[in-house]
Amino acid sequence: MGYITLSREALIHNLDIIAHQVGTKDKIAVVLKDNAYGHGAVLMAQACAEYGVKQAVVRTEAEALEIVEFFGNVLILGDRPSHVNPKLSYAVNTLEEIGKFPSGVRVELKVDTGMHRNGIALQELEEAFGKMAERGLVCVGVMSHLRSAETLSSEWYWQRRNFDEVKKKARKLGERYGWEPRFHLSNSAGTFRSSECEDDMVRVGIALYGCLEMDKGFSTPPLKPVLSLWGNKIATRLLKKGERIGYNGIYEAAADEVVSTYDLGYANGLDRLASNHYATPEGVAQRGRISMDNAVFASDAEELLVFDNANDYARAVGTIGYEILACLDFRLKREWR
Ligand SMILES: *Cc1c(COP(=O)(O)O)cnc(C)c1O
Repeated sequence: MGYITLSREALIHNLDIIAHQVGTKDKIAVVLKDNAYGHGAVLMAQACAEYGVKQAVVRTEAEALEIVEFFGNVLILGDRPSHVNPKLSYAVNTLEEIGKFPSGVRVELKVDTGMHRNGIALQELEEAFGKMAERGLVCVGVMSHLRSAETLSSEWYWQRRNFDEVKKKARKLGERYGWEPRFHLSNSAGTFRSSECEDDMVRVGIALYGCLEMDKGFSTPPLKPVLSLWGNKIATRLLKKGERIGYNGIYEAAADEVVSTYDLGYANGLDRLASNHYATPEGVAQRGRISMDNAVFASDAEELLVFDNANDYARAVGTIGYEILACLDFRLKREWR
């Protein structure tokens, strides 16, 4: 099976840029959900903690427990608490959910400022605070999520304004119950939309991994991709002119050509939709259908760099770097280079 290399230099470079953007390391929460976007959650947690990051964000409680030792607090975006843990906080996405959380749990209330996916409505804020207090929960945060911070439109301003409204109201309500929640709205793109960070924290995922893309017109920060995917050679052959490769024989050699199979396929996250029209950063063409455990490239190298920027592979598939990274096989070996 192929393997993954991670660049510590790129990670630190990206963290420097993010810390500079928000003014302090203390406002950075690293988003490590889904195996840290395929990078390896524990490896990333450890490196970010060494850098001085104190906050992390994941999807499930199980993910949080894997990395909690490295951080002051881990926010869980989409899971029910199984116990009360002073280092974990749980996003509350609906009013009904409040009644299902055990008393004593630390929560961060999600408010819908325009994405219309999760979160309570602005008008439900007072009711939500009342319900949380009644249930015996401790509100340590109020948050929202941006739907299109990377696009050149007014949507970011509109959600930003709505969240400022939320902050004002929530601060007052917090006083009533003796809570001082932290406020956070921005994902990676949002973090780079304003020159000044007005909130207590930002939740950065894709920028940390160096694959943030924003519309032309924004000055996208010079981040560096952290992850590279490599394949090991299985077999080499000389393909004669007119011979075809792999399932359905969709590639036909126009001239004699040396090709090799490598030990990566769609079961490892090498999306099949890039079949027969992807070239590696070194210009090595992929040939024929990508199969479950194998892919053929016009190379005879023992080790082949498949991509060093997930966005390039994503373009060949017709998707985004996030999906390519998040779907990388858990079993691939990951190591710092
Ligand atoms: C995944 C996620 C993020 C991180 O988004 P990026 O675009 O990768 O920075 C932030 N907040 C929430 C709620 C998320 O689900």
